[in-house]
Order: sequence, then C-alpha cells, then structure tokens
Amino acid sequence: MSNCVAILSGGLDSTTLVYHLFNEDYIPHCLSFNYGQRHSKELDFAWHTADRLDLQFDEIDLTSITGLISNSALTHGKEVPDGHYAEENMKQTVVPNRNMIMLSIAAGVAVSNKYKFVAAGMHAGDHFVYPDCRPEFIDALSEAVLTGNEGFHNFAKREVQKFSGVVHYREPIYTPFIHKTKADIAYRALELGVPLDTTWSCYRGKDVHCGRCGTCVERLEAIAEAQQRAMETELNNGNLIEDKTVYADKEYWRTVTNV
Ligand SMILES: [Zn+2]
Repeated sequence: MSNCVAILSGGLDSTTLVYHLFNEDYIPHCLSFNYGQRHSKELDFAWHTADRLDLQFDEIDLTSITGLISNSALTHGKEVPDGHYAEENMKQTVVPNRNMIMLSIAAGVAVSNKYKFVAAGMHAGDHFVYPDCRPEFIDALSEAVLTGNEGFHNFAKREVQKFSGVVHYREPIYTPFIHKTKADIAYRALELGVPLDTTWSCYRGKDVHCGRCGTCVERLEAIAEAQQRAMETELNNGNLIEDKTVYADKEYWRTVTNV
C-alpha cells in the first residue's frame, strides 16, 4: 500500500528516485504530469516503470493550462537545440512555475491519503537554470505545505535518512538528490540496478534517444562518469555496467563535453 507520493516523469532522475524510495522501504504512489510536452514518450516510460514495479500510478492532465503558462521549447514549436546542457540553450526549456504546480498537486494527494511525504528528483545540476529546483525553493514550499495543512507535520516531519553520509530531514517535500550531481544519480541508478533503458531523457521524442540534444548529452556524460566510478569502486566486481539504451548518435556528446 502506497505511503508516499513520487513525481515520476519517466526520466533517469525520477525513475532512480522511485527505486531509491523502494530501497528505503517506502511504496510510492507515482504521479506523472502531462503539461503538453512536445511528446508523450516520457509519460509512457513513467507508466511502464510504475507498472513493472506494481505501483499505483496516476497521470495528471495539465494541458488545459499549458497555453496560458508556457513559451518554452519543451511545449512549443521551437526546435530543440543540439549541444551541451548550457544555460543559454536550457533557458528555453523553462516552464514557468512548473515545480510549484506539480508539487502542490502532489502535496494535496499526499495530505488527502495521509502519506508521509512527496518525493521529487531534482538535482544540483538543475539549480543554475531552474530556480524552482533550488533548495531554498523546496524549503519554502515544505514550510508552506506544513503551514497550509494542519496535522500533516505529525507524520511528515521526521529526521531519518542518511544517504551517502548526508543527513536529510524528512520534510513534506523530500528531494534526496538535491545536492547531488547528475552523475551521482546515475551512479545511484547503477547501485540500485535501475535498468537505464527503461528511462527516457531525450527532448526530441523520436523512436530512440537522439544523443545530441541537451538532455541526451547530459545523460550520456553522467552515465559515462558513473560507469567509470562504478568500475573504480568495484560495484560490479569492477566490470562495466552497460547502458542498454539505444542512441541515434552515441559519440556526439564527447565532442561538446571535452571528455
Ligand atoms: Zn536527445
């Protein structure tokens, strides 16, 4: 029976988050948000992950507000740029107030079901472009959820978790990766045995990952670093843990990341 909410987009971070929660003995109720993404590939992957793990899953349709709030490359007709996850490119992918909207809906689901918390997979690499992925935003929203829902703190606010030596306080909004890099998350995915090819990152939503857009480059770079680290730490007896994801161009990322 579910005891927390996880926002599951179907990407590497949120899929790893779900496995991470499982590993901590929580059973997440997964929520995916359809805010009019250019493609629904991520949502399909999210559904499949929830189905595979036998988790409660709901897709929340926000498309009726998309036209009112969005002018970004994720939801409009602009071409998604090739290249590294650079600020100039990625500013095009900001959907205003997206996390506030998704997290408040998820908090409503958590409160009404007496779940312990809402978990979300934002990480340190998101901070420089997305203000609503930064710790100060999450802290403020946690406080707002506690203030706005009497009694929620009775089961929400407890100190519990140690993850890689960092003590986290189980606030209503739980973001275990917020001080981690994308490579840290990829490493965690390898530790937890997350099948990487069951996650979708590409902004382009074709049959396979393009390997060239900002998120593909970021993903490939992070996975390569995590694989390297895994070999150094003998995670798989020192053998390479393969990424079975298919990429249209698997080498382009090296040309833009100096690796
Ligand atoms: Zn791509």
